[in-house]
Amino acid sequence: MPGDKVILTDEQWRQKLTPVQYAVLREKGTEPPFRNEFDEHFEPGVYACAGCGQELFESDTKFHSGCGWPAFYATLAGERVQLIRDDSHGMTRTEVLCGRCGSHLGHVFEDSPQTPTGQRYCINSVAMTFAPGSAETSPDSPA
Ligand code: FE
Repeated sequence: MPGDKVILTDEQWRQKLTPVQYAVLREKGTEPPFRNEFDEHFEPGVYACAGCGQELFESDTKFHSGCGWPAFYATLAGERVQLIRDDSHGMTRTEVLCGRCGSHLGHVFEDSPQTPTGQRYCINSVAMTFAPGSAETSPDSPA
């Protein structure tokens, strides 16, 4: 079922992911701004977690924030992500984790009043895969 948790050992993650994906998803790294795959990518489609394949965001909610990373004002419906407080690097931010596999995706900020929610999910390109088309599943629906 798409809603099932994905729990892998560190060794399994290392085998499954590229080194760059591992550094972001499993070590909470951040890719360079602007020089990343989806910052300026606005094709219609769905973005999924690069760790487990769970669909996370639709292109309909992607907007140009100018921050240098892909930005979305909402996730797909359902419990797609887990939000936790992050006090690292001398800031208080809200970290966004994949709700299915626990991988680090990015952060969410309440700084975008130009969007319907005011939110900016600032997500590493390397943490996602893109597929044209519409979302297939709700995380709570049977496979
Ligand atoms: Fe995931």
